[in-house]
Amino acid sequence: MVYDVVIFGSGPAGLTAAIYTSRAGLKTLVVAGTLWGGQLMLTREVENFPGFENGILGPKLMEEMRKQAERFGAELIFENATAADFKSKPFKVTAGNKTYKGKSVIIATGASPKWLGLESETRLRGRGVSVCATCDAPFFRNRKVVVVGGSDTAMEEAFVLSKVASEVKVIHRRDKLRACKFLQEKAFENPKITFVWNSTVQEILGKDRVEGVRLRRVDSGKESVLECDAVFLAIGHKPNTDIFKDQIELDQTGYIVAREDTRTNIEGVFVAGDVADYRYRQAIAAAGSGCKAALDAEKYLLGT
Ligand code: FAD
Ligand code: NAP
Repeated sequence: MVYDVVIFGSGPAGLTAAIYTSRAGLKTLVVAGTLWGGQLMLTREVENFPGFENGILGPKLMEEMRKQAERFGAELIFENATAADFKSKPFKVTAGNKTYKGKSVIIATGASPKWLGLESETRLRGRGVSVCATCDAPFFRNRKVVVVGGSDTAMEEAFVLSKVASEVKVIHRRDKLRACKFLQEKAFENPKITFVWNSTVQEILGKDRVEGVRLRRVDSGKESVLECDAVFLAIGHKPNTDIFKDQIELDQTGYIVAREDTRTNIEGVFVAGDVADYRYRQAIAAAGSGCKAALDAEKYLLGT
């Protein structure tokens, strides 16, 4: 059997694409991944997805999107795709030792935020530990927060937080920032932002919510405690593109290169969401691009 559309990934981008393609009558397979639902499954309250006056829990939002896609006939398999072949048509995908074929493909495998790997970080995730200032800054109005990282994302997170928090301390493991000059200068000029250099976070403190961090100087090994109400990690993301390496154009950092919106360098292969977007990284932006990719795939299949 050849599907009209095979969608890789079941976050907001993949499931929105599936709602559109299946509702348009296209035979749709979603290779949802073993961790279906994407990044919002890792969070609690989502307050900025339109349509929910009082917010909605991340997993609940994803469950609703999945049910909506299934209502229109999208088929989901809860396996990770382990190989893709875009060299000939129909396109092929291997998942759970089976091969599936599609006339068109939408890649929506997202990007995974990097974590420090601390037990306390996992325990306090959503209780003051965050990887998204745009999502969570409003919970920390007039509170003390820290940002971990020294590159562009860390500076941008610090700016977002400086609008609401009482103070923002950026903890960086070296004595120089990697961020571009413009963002560095803006950060140094901001009176709410200060820096803790040459330091790493050894532990996030607090039982039910973040109360501080235990820091270690990389030069002297000396440890200290810094009190804060939230820890925003900004140590980079990894786009989930390993299986596409030899199949499709990626940029230097591994993101899929999108041209003319959702088109890739392979005709009939489209892309949506965080896997091609390190700039916006928001659920509604991912959902919007999932909609566009679905409409582009539909046009491609119609030959228009
Ligand atoms: P993802 O959500 O990353 O989904 C990708 C999916 O693809 C995953 O299910 C993954 O398992 C699957 N996948 C990966 N590789 C494969 C493979 N080989 N085969 C099959 N499947 C695969 N945004 C907001 O707008 N508001 C918020 O409040 C908010 N809070 C957040 C809180 C946290 C903790 C995090 C981490 C992010 C948050 N975001 C928030 C950002 C938002 O979650 C992302 O921008 C959005 O989920 C991106 O959607 P996506 O569909 O592109 O990718
Ligand atoms: P990044 O450039 O990979 O930077 C990650 C930062 O986290 C670095 O400062 C790194 O320190 C630090 N770090 C990594 N692992 C760490 C660990 N385990 N413990 C402590 N610190 C750690 O990631 P990014 O900032 O998300 O940027 C990704 C890409 O997107 C970049 O190309 C960036 O230029 C781009 N981007 C651009 C903009 C913009 O132009 N406005 C905005 C956002 C992102 P070191 O410096 O010591 O390596």
